[in-house]
Amino acid sequence: MQTTLRHSYSSLTPALLGCAYFVLAMLALGHSRFEGGLAFIWGANALLMAVLLTSRINDWPALLIAAGVASAAATSLWGMGPLAAVPMAIINLAEALIVALVCRRFAPGRKFAGSMRPLLIFTLALCGPANMLAGVAAAWVASLLTPVSFGASWLQWYTGHVLGGLTCTPILMMLLQGEARRWFRHTLRREKWEAAGLLFFFALATAYVFYVARYPMLFALLLPMVVIVFRVGNLGASASVLILAAIGGVATMTGHGPLHMIPGTMGERIQYFQFFLASTFLLSMPVAAELNSRRRLFQMLQESEARYRAIAEHSGDVVLNISVGGLIEYASPAAAEQIGCAPELLIGQDAANLVDPEDRAHVSAAIGRALAQPGDVQTVEFRPFVSTRGLEWCEMVARAVVDEHGLPTGIVSTIRDMSRHKARQRALQQVAALDSLTGADTRRAFLEKLDDEIGRVRRGGRACLLLIDIDHFKAVNDRYGHGTGDRVLAGFVEWLRPGLRSIDSIGRLGGEEFAILLSGTDVERASMICERLREMVAANPVRIDSGEAIRVTFSAGLVGLDALVGRDSILEAADKALYRAKHSGRNCLRLAA
Ligand code: GH3
Ligand code: MG
Ligand code: MG
Repeated sequence: MQTTLRHSYSSLTPALLGCAYFVLAMLALGHSRFEGGLAFIWGANALLMAVLLTSRINDWPALLIAAGVASAAATSLWGMGPLAAVPMAIINLAEALIVALVCRRFAPGRKFAGSMRPLLIFTLALCGPANMLAGVAAAWVASLLTPVSFGASWLQWYTGHVLGGLTCTPILMMLLQGEARRWFRHTLRREKWEAAGLLFFFALATAYVFYVARYPMLFALLLPMVVIVFRVGNLGASASVLILAAIGGVATMTGHGPLHMIPGTMGERIQYFQFFLASTFLLSMPVAAELNSRRRLFQMLQESEARYRAIAEHSGDVVLNISVGGLIEYASPAAAEQIGCAPELLIGQDAANLVDPEDRAHVSAAIGRALAQPGDVQTVEFRPFVSTRGLEWCEMVARAVVDEHGLPTGIVSTIRDMSRHKARQRALQQVAALDSLTGADTRRAFLEKLDDEIGRVRRGGRACLLLIDIDHFKAVNDRYGHGTGDRVLAGFVEWLRPGLRSIDSIGRLGGEEFAILLSGTDVERASMICERLREMVAANPVRIDSGEAIRVTFSAGLVGLDALVGRDSILEAADKALYRAKHSGRNCLRLAA
């Protein structure tokens, strides 16, 4: 972008700029020093500013020197003479440099044509610091060297330079930035003919107003100018200002046109004309810039709309647009397959109807959050109310769409099938909850069940916890090896299971220590169950592959869940009972105190 805006000019450019500057300065000084002081018209600096603003800062010294030499030469030959040559050159350069620096600082790398900001900054810099200061310096020089007063000189400078800059710099910059080339390349033939026709008509109208009309009709030119701004844009606006400047300028300087209907000197008429030009510029250029940025915005909107459509229509997810009131405004084609309903039938329906009644509250809460925080994306999982193909779980990702004031106008959401993901998640959770060696619950899963059971007991149920530790298991490992020890552990759990009911749980708390949760059972009955298990394990050795039978016994501690409050104290009590069982010779059960 930067490269197209700031050219690396050839080494000839400073020389060309110097010549052009000299010619423009010569014409202005030769024809518009109406009072013998400063020129009333000054287009040379408009060219210098346009070149500076479209070139790299490294090229500025050469360009400034060339323009400075041209300015000094023109002043010595046609202006206030050799004495004023150097000061006037410095003042001219300072003016252009201030404008260029301000624009570079506050609107860097911007296209002049399309947007308001660079145009505004340029206008402020030109009318403000650049010419206020340069005007004072130039008027001081002129008042010293010529009979023209300081005030009159300042006004001559200010109008000539400000109006020259406003009229010519924007169009010169557009030309230098390739705007005209782009326009020719990208504009339809019909539009080119229309632009040419409108500008031709405008030229005729201008000629009529300045050469034929018997009444002052300057205002009549504003109407075609506005039409040109709307139909042709920036370039048209600049071209019409230029046409007006050329035809009106020549007419006024040669004694024709409506400005001669008012009394005054030639200088005053030229100033008046330049004010008229400046107001046409200030009328047309900002409108053209605004229109241009709207056109660009519209184009971007069209592109983004096309992209959104392509994504929505080809996505496997359902895309829904929902109004603030919760009604479906758009449903993508995937709705037919996922929800089993043709998209057009969904339009106008309440989006809540798609959600299982149990999940409606938290889906509408998520939509409420999306509307309340328009920048944020809300994700919510829900079960669909109706589903084809066994859709069990969906995920909705919702985000608010806002208007130009940032207020939400609706919701865009995508709905994705999560059934498979959920099933996988459940399977993983189940796997993670089981001890891989013995198939008993893991410590964590078992403790969760214990917590649930404690809750049930608090609400009036009964349950017991049995803590079990295999006796002398180290000896099994030592004698048969760790692998066999593992098989014994797995066989141990298998032996226990048939003695338990489906509502009971067995968990491996660690090593060869297990716990059994006996639901709906009091301590008495639980002791009986434990004794039965103990006898069964003691009587049935675990057979290993070699055919050998390994007999193990266990010690156990029993506690009723209603006896104590809190999981830790229950576990501690069971542990103490188990400890006592070990100390009582093992292969026995002890009750918690
Ligand atoms: P007691 O409980 O009767 O006091 O004697 P013990 O020999 O069983 O002693 P303790 O409970 O302190 O030691 C448990 C032993 O169980 C220690 C360790 O070698 C063995 N063990 C723990 N986890 C595993 C396991 O996953 N596989 C096998 N093979 N052995 C294990
Ligand atoms: Mg142990
Ligand atoms: Mg042990």
